[in-house]
Amino acid sequence: MSKTISVGIVGYGNLGRGVESAIRQNPDMELEAIFTRRNPEAIEAGTPMVSISDIEQYKGKIDVMILCGGSAKDLPEQGPALAKHFHTVDSFDTHALIPEYFNKVDDAAQTNGNVSVISTGWDPGLFSLNRLLAEAVLPEGKEYTFWGKGVSQGHSDAIRRVEGVSNGIQYTIPHDAAVERVRSGSNPQLTTREKHLRECFVVLQEGADAEAVANEIKNMPNYFADYETVVHFVSDEVLRAEHSTMPHGGNVIRSGQTGPNNGSTQLIEFSLKLDSNPEFTASVLVAYARAAYRMAQAGQTGAKTVFDVPYGLLSPKSPEQLRKELL
Ligand code: NAP
Repeated sequence: MSKTISVGIVGYGNLGRGVESAIRQNPDMELEAIFTRRNPEAIEAGTPMVSISDIEQYKGKIDVMILCGGSAKDLPEQGPALAKHFHTVDSFDTHALIPEYFNKVDDAAQTNGNVSVISTGWDPGLFSLNRLLAEAVLPEGKEYTFWGKGVSQGHSDAIRRVEGVSNGIQYTIPHDAAVERVRSGSNPQLTTREKHLRECFVVLQEGADAEAVANEIKNMPNYFADYETVVHFVSDEVLRAEHSTMPHGGNVIRSGQTGPNNGSTQLIEFSLKLDSNPEFTASVLVAYARAAYRMAQAGQTGAKTVFDVPYGLLSPKSPEQLRKELL
């Protein structure tokens, strides 16, 4: 058996905790330390917690750093900074800014001979792979991505910023009718409102005007105004008891036509149903950490996306074993 891959986690939030448990399911990997910007002594974990200011002392001891910071504020800074010192993997998910982020991380990784797999997870990540595969196989067709049912952190944060709201959560739910129209192969034109419903569970502050809060949420530009939005008011106890997990998922569907007269309808669908978004995303990151290590061992450098990583490198199995068992 080849060497155990030594891994570090940077940032100990939902995703960081997910990576900590996912590594336990991968015997070819070992978790060396978790790095945090907070006081490491104040955080309880089953792994040594280390201040991020000491991270460079781990050069040569850690093969791959899995970056678990947030995409909005943490990764734009930590991604390029850590790619100078380590092979890295991250789940940067601000789709519009990925090209810019790629260039910054690539520059740091190339200059220092490291490999950095960016923007992996499920979207971007496994969904992106399936969009590419379906488009390459069915060049004449149409692609649809549906998200949910699942918790959107961004929309939940937006609800909590509304005056009169003390807590809240938002579920993104695909409309079954829209999914079925797509599955029929008719390539429908669907509006934003036709594709997804937004369902909110809101705890009001004492004395707040429920109707005013509901109106403000439903008419919020960019977040809710373009959707059918349902607002339920619940107590804090109910919110905590019934809405504290982070399920998610969705479908990537492409239908296309092939044949001499484009007469045959072909449908490709990839779907995920996740009880825990961070635990699943973490499991993807861990598989890509293995690939990053192997690409580095093979002499590659620079930033990579899921499009640049051969599938076989994700698996702990040898190419011979994969050909025999999974091909
Ligand atoms: P999170 O829990 O908010 O954690 C983000 C960072 O905040 C942590 O790394 C941690 O850094 C800090 N933090 C966590 N708990 C804290 C606390 N109690 N007090 C102060 N600071 C705390 O975010 P997350 O749920 O792990 O998600 C991280 C990112 O993953 C998201 O921003 C999203 O972009 C990405 N994501 C991607 C996908 C995908 O499919 N590509 C899917 C899901 C999520 P320190 O330890 O350094 O303080």
